[in-house]
Amino acid sequence: MRPLSRRNFMQSMGSLLVLPLLRTEEPETILYNGNIWTTDEAQPRAQAVAIRGGRLLAVGSNADVLPLATARTRKIDLASKSVLPGFNDAHAHPVDSGVEHLRKVACDTDSIDKIKAALHERALKTPPGEWVLGFLYDDGKTPRPINWHDLDAAVPDHPVLLQHRGGHTAFVNSMALQLAQVNDQTPDPTGGRFEHDAAGHLTGFVGDAGMQVFLKLIPNKNTREDYRQAAALISKLFTSKGITSACDADASPEDVQGYQDARDAGELAMRAYCHVSAGSLDHFMAAGIHTGFGDEWVRIGGVKMYADGSISERTAWLSQSYIGIPNNYVGLQLFSREQLYETGRKAHAAGWQLATHANGDLAIDRILGVYEQIHKELPRKDPRFRIEHCTLLTDALIYRMRALQVIPAPFSCYVYFHGDVMRYYGEARTQHMFPMRSFLDAGLRPTDSSDYTASPADPMMWLQSQLTRTDMKGNVWGANQRITLQEAIRCGTVNGAYAAFEEDLKGSIQPGRLADLVVLAQDPFKAEPSELLKIQVERTMVGGIWKYES
Ligand SMILES: [Zn+2]
Repeated sequence: MRPLSRRNFMQSMGSLLVLPLLRTEEPETILYNGNIWTTDEAQPRAQAVAIRGGRLLAVGSNADVLPLATARTRKIDLASKSVLPGFNDAHAHPVDSGVEHLRKVACDTDSIDKIKAALHERALKTPPGEWVLGFLYDDGKTPRPINWHDLDAAVPDHPVLLQHRGGHTAFVNSMALQLAQVNDQTPDPTGGRFEHDAAGHLTGFVGDAGMQVFLKLIPNKNTREDYRQAAALISKLFTSKGITSACDADASPEDVQGYQDARDAGELAMRAYCHVSAGSLDHFMAAGIHTGFGDEWVRIGGVKMYADGSISERTAWLSQSYIGIPNNYVGLQLFSREQLYETGRKAHAAGWQLATHANGDLAIDRILGVYEQIHKELPRKDPRFRIEHCTLLTDALIYRMRALQVIPAPFSCYVYFHGDVMRYYGEARTQHMFPMRSFLDAGLRPTDSSDYTASPADPMMWLQSQLTRTDMKGNVWGANQRITLQEAIRCGTVNGAYAAFEEDLKGSIQPGRLADLVVLAQDPFKAEPSELLKIQVERTMVGGIWKYES
């Protein structure tokens, strides 16, 4: 006879899943009358949960869970509302974007005139000689890309840098060009670009290493206090959308400190798994830290490297040229293979997870080769190599990912939100971009992610985009990659936790897991896929506490 496993034991108890209760472990809170989708295969649906010390004690029907209450238990009626596990944004830039919200002009509008007016207004309050900085601009959303003439008209007396929301490119004015000593004749830096028009004149659009030339000139005046405030601000924004955990995909030591300070101040509303930038790796290694250090609120993740540019800004490194961009342009390589290998091997040997930004098929091929080599030379059990974004695949690349069980962390709403740039790739290529169906069919565990600020940190938009593969204007891109709602929810919860080695802690509503969940105004399983975006988040609980209530 087989010994009774824990799961069989629980099933033999009926629908109630419960941890063995000690007498001191009476529930502090019980949520009941819910339409709960747990993502726990042992018990996919439930009505009620009991919570103590930030964790779930029991999950089951009202009849099962309510009797666990004592006179001191707070009982909350969910009024039949739908509940999902809290979402995990597996690749975002929370503190970074938080500092931008504090310091820069938000330019997420489709009107060039409005952007000019906002930058002009900021310039009036900016001391002479100081930079005027904008962010969240998206040239796919304005009728044409903004250029230095527009920026000069709005801000003639200050240098201006307006960042694309993708973070890899920017638009600068003529004073910025002068300060950086960049003119029509300046050659492109390695891994970067100064865009020229047909007549050979600069447009003001600068990419990757070309943008760094300008960023180097801007003094960093951020204080420790700014990083704390930034972590608090963005964690509030994310929880208002149902996100209870995020992976910071490129955290500096200051960013990590920002999360920790916000946590200490009781202001961190969500949990953070922090990939450390390759440039800071040595600092962390000198302190004896590697992946997994920290606790359930702030944890050190992998080391972040870059193999190429961006999809929304058309700098991803592709095997076939972009459509409609002259000179057979195929995007940008960032680190060399040697750099990726050397940093990767050093980090892997020291116990770090490797997380490399790679969008285009050539970039993915390169980093897979590096991972394969490192794995052969220094085999380690369950390394969970990650490819951040992992956008444009081929069957052969997916086959190699499968052999190594590499985790793809793709953008989740680019088809919906960045449909305007899909024409540069074309319908045929989009059938292999953000290929969720192919990943899942290969047995991989793709996550969900926003890359905020690159796209909205909005799980309902992720779900809609993945179910419909339809953009804002109704164009369909790669319908073959549609997945089901159940699959999409698992990617945004269970798989996000797995990608951070935290699957025993979160991602599902089951006893022993953290009490992280989201209450929705409508049942997503009863909504039209094209209407998912309209579903409102009513409340978000993190660690047994409502961190957001509408
Ligand atoms: Zn990113």
